[in-house]
Amino acid sequence: MHEYVIAVGIVESLREFSFRSGRVVKSFRVVVGELSMLNLEQLSEALKRLIEASEVSGAQFSIEVEPARVRCGTCGYEMAFSEAVSGLSEEERETIHFLPDLIASYAECRRCGSLDLRVVEGRGVSVRDVIYVEH
Ligand SMILES: [Zn+2]
Repeated sequence: MHEYVIAVGIVESLREFSFRSGRVVKSFRVVVGELSMLNLEQLSEALKRLIEASEVSGAQFSIEVEPARVRCGTCGYEMAFSEAVSGLSEEERETIHFLPDLIASYAECRRCGSLDLRVVEGRGVSVRDVIYVEH
């Protein structure tokens, strides 16, 4: 369900872009954050169906996962999400996966020990590298 809503948003944006610019979208890349909780197969299926039925039919796309990254607000150290949570229990990891904002309550900076951690990448969904041709 969530996947479908995301797919609608993506296809709408591409249609809007195509309509306003008079360009034909040939391909694009969908980058999905590691923590976005999306089912990639469902997202792909929804995109295929929606694209076929729209003005951007024929557009090709690929979907890839962007690893989540965590930044320390105290020393600026950046680490992979997996590194930040590596010392935690399975249960704690799962909690953070669902509620990334709580990372500071569980994990600490690998370099300085600060609890001021923030997830800076790997949560959202974005469309990148839209390739198009003029009409
Ligand atoms: Zn730090």
